[in-house]
Amino acid sequence: GRHGGKRQTQVGFEYNGVTFDERSVNLFAGLCAVDTRESVDAMMGALARCGIRTTRMGAYKPRTSPYEFQGLGAACLPWVFELAGKHGIKVVAMEVTNARHIDEIREALEASGNATGVMLQVGTRNAQNFELLKQVGQQRVFPVLFKRGMGITLEESLNACEYVASEGNPKIVFCLRGVKTHLGDPHRNMVDFAHVSVVRRLTRLPVCVDPSHAIGRAEAGPDGLPDIFHAIGQGLIAGASMVLVDFHPYPEQALCDGPQALRLEQLPALQSYARIIREAY
Ligand code: PEP
Repeated sequence: GRHGGKRQTQVGFEYNGVTFDERSVNLFAGLCAVDTRESVDAMMGALARCGIRTTRMGAYKPRTSPYEFQGLGAACLPWVFELAGKHGIKVVAMEVTNARHIDEIREALEASGNATGVMLQVGTRNAQNFELLKQVGQQRVFPVLFKRGMGITLEESLNACEYVASEGNPKIVFCLRGVKTHLGDPHRNMVDFAHVSVVRRLTRLPVCVDPSHAIGRAEAGPDGLPDIFHAIGQGLIAGASMVLVDFHPYPEQALCDGPQALRLEQLPALQSYARIIREAY
């Protein structure tokens, strides 16, 4: 293909016992930003009760303002991976903003001695950080979750994935998370989940949707379902195989993106909603 994606990437992959392909639905519900051990334990406990073995946990947070919470960084990794082991989590999606973070994650995982794995997330703000893309491509241990650039063309984002693939790591998931417009929007970003089918047509990458960063608010509509659920539905109907979604045991206390965090009590409903949608389509 034009992006090389057809050559260098594959239709899905398996990592640490979790399959990412056209038929799978992997819910990565978790904390946008790790704050306390109690939050992580509560989050992972809720996942375990639902039989979910994948999560998202932000340790290194790229914030728009330097005065906002920047994430706990490497300091939280030992107890995040310890708790992941306790709750049987197989894959933690975690953003890295610097190549050094990859080593910190690998070392903390090894030290934890448990069977948890990590998917390295490259955020929308680093979608064209070519050096970072090459670094996550050069390591072969962890798969990569690439988040579409919020202000660049889809073509440019697909080329960014080629930086990962061409360095030798074909385990890439392409994540749609909404795009910026100048139009104003009831949501945080213009939801771009109609592009799921476009990405699947142009590449062989499994596609993820992130309704939390796309929508930016947890409020429910007149039918009682949060806009976030409806956006997940759009993504799954179009063939997304992964959903990245923010939760928090106490959204009003979250140090990052609290307004878009769903409550732990909503997790079983989200799980059955995703199941119903996938079975119907
Ligand atoms: C995130 O997933 O925590 C995040 C910062 O997302 P994005 O890069 O899409 O803004």
